[in-house]
Amino acid sequence: MKLASSDADAVIYLMSDQPEACRWCGVRTIFVELKDGLQRHECPRCKAEYFVETDFADAESKVPGSN
Ligand SMILES: [Zn+2]
Repeated sequence: MKLASSDADAVIYLMSDQPEACRWCGVRTIFVELKDGLQRHECPRCKAEYFVETDFADAESKVPGSN
């Protein structure tokens, strides 16, 4: 995946089954939906910014021999 140069050091996390909260301080984040199941989250407290991947479950289900 290619990102803009300003996002080159961005970290992409996988969406969990819990409501997304800041990975650093735990505050509920503000996010915008990007393309391809990607969300960009911003923490209103510590201003951390990161990406969350939301459509990984589909790819994961295609992995053979998972059980
Ligand atoms: Zn935070």
